[in-house]
Parts: sequence; C-alpha cells; structure tokens
Amino acid sequence: MSDPATPPDAHHRRLVAIAQPDTEEAAEFVAAFDDVDDVEVELIETTGEEEVREVIARVVSEGVDTIASVGGDGALNLVIGGLWDAGGGGGAALRDVTVVPVRSGTVNLVSKTMGLDSLDTTVDAIVAGRSRAMDVGRSEAGVFVLNSSSGYDAAVIGDAADHSDATLGQVRFAVEGIKRLRDEDPVHVTVRCDGVQLHDGPAMSVVTMNIGERASDDFHVAPDAEIDDGLLDVAVIRAESLSRFLGVIVKLALRRDVERRHLVRAQAEHVEIEWSRSVASQRDGDADDEVTSLDVRVHPGALRIHCA
Ligand SMILES: [Mg+2]
Repeated sequence: MSDPATPPDAHHRRLVAIAQPDTEEAAEFVAAFDDVDDVEVELIETTGEEEVREVIARVVSEGVDTIASVGGDGALNLVIGGLWDAGGGGGAALRDVTVVPVRSGTVNLVSKTMGLDSLDTTVDAIVAGRSRAMDVGRSEAGVFVLNSSSGYDAAVIGDAADHSDATLGQVRFAVEGIKRLRDEDPVHVTVRCDGVQLHDGPAMSVVTMNIGERASDDFHVAPDAEIDDGLLDVAVIRAESLSRFLGVIVKLALRRDVERRHLVRAQAEHVEIEWSRSVASQRDGDADDEVTSLDVRVHPGALRIHCA
C-alpha cells in the first residue's frame, strides 16, 4: 500500500546491533541484512558499560524489537544488564526485546548453546524469528546468563579466558592460574538454598550456574536441559587445600565423579552465600568487586533469545 499513513507491517522489525568500534563481524552481520526487507538494522558502536546502558535505554524507549550483541559472553552480559535496567527496570524491557549473541572472535558459550555457530545460522534464526525463553540469574552485583561465582575460581578467571583447562558449568578454570595463588587456605562460607542450609564450613569456591551440568553427579554436559528449568545449579567446591581443589578440577575436566566431601551440589531458585571474609567474584567470565556475601536468584524465562 502506498498510503503514507499506513502503519508499518506487523512483521517489520527493528534490530539494533551493539558492537565495539571497528568490529569486522559487526560489519558482516549488518551487511547480511542488505536483502532482508522486513528487518531494519542499525549498528551502534560503543566502548564501555555505561555507554551500552545508555544506548539500550534509548533504543528500548524507541521500541526496538531485537538487540544483537556482537562480542563474547561478557559483551552479552552487559547488554542483558542494560536491558534489565531499561524501561523502568526490574527486567520489564526483557519481555519486549529479543536478544541475539553474534560471535566475534572471543569465547561465546551462549551462542554455542543456542546453536548459533555461524553468521548464516544467526541471521537465519533472526529472519525466521526463531527464539526461546531462557532463565536469567541475578545477584546484587548484576545479571548473569552463564554463571556467577565467588572464591578461588573467580580469582583466576582472568587467567582462564583463553586457555581453559577445565570447566564447571562453563566457568573456566586455568590450572596454571590457580597454581600461582599463594594463599592456600579455604575460607569459611555458609550457603543456603531456598532457605535450607547446604554448606557451613570452609570451601574454595561457590558457583551458581544458570546454564550448568545436570545436578546429578554424572557430569554429562546438557546445557539445553537447564536453560529454562527455573533453577540455578549450585556447586560448593570444598576441597580443603589448593592441591585437592586442583584434583577436583581435573576430575571435572575428565567427567569423573567427585567425592561428596569435596563437592556439594544442589538446585535452587534462591541462593544465599556468606563468606567470613571478602573473596573474588565474577559473572559470565568477567571479574566483579570482591564480596563477602551474595544473594542470587533465578528469574525464570526472563530472557527471550534467538536460537538455531
Ligand atoms: Mg537452570
């Protein structure tokens, strides 16, 4: 119809791609929509967390349908954090906007989980409108899609970025990085899951996973089964020395059972963690400030994300 007053086609969608400046994959992604009539794409280049937040608040107020995060899991975390706070806050904007991770050189476990392993697959998923609901984890430090952790693993997360030796719910551990730590003493921690005490004693790390392994001890990685189960997978690594901690990590890498005295697991909607002193913490692979306590909750199906 040529009537200028005709409202836009109901299928017409506005997509904003957020990327670091001069990202090659961002240019390729935008170009892939040249021949797609019903998706209008805008590329916005940003350089920092605050800028991402401002951009998202603005495009949400303008009625954006889809936000593409070009980058790794850390970049996606910033986008989802921005969406959580946009449009009045409390995750309201997440109900109206579909998110899509676009791989850009770095480790991107979320896009892998969604089956978006190439540019073509990603563009196809957007054009076809294929998406699914996914849980979002959140603590006072902010949102997370993969996991949040505190303790020793968080202390070495930076070292682990590109040369992972083992994973636990896709937290990457670098054995070399852990070896460099001098302080071998576990720290006392209390962990409560949905109000029930899971652990009260020394531990090396507490990991809360949104995408995690099964809660049983078989360690088969089946992320697809858990991304929308409305539960966090909790792991308390309580190996009492650094060498035992390394032993647990190696067993996890080999998918072997770990004795319960070294590793306690549970599933919960609400996890309260109290350390006796401040320890390192991280969300989705990026370090946060040190913490002495964390109050972690799952927000079931809060995120809509494109998938293959
Ligand atoms: Mg889950």
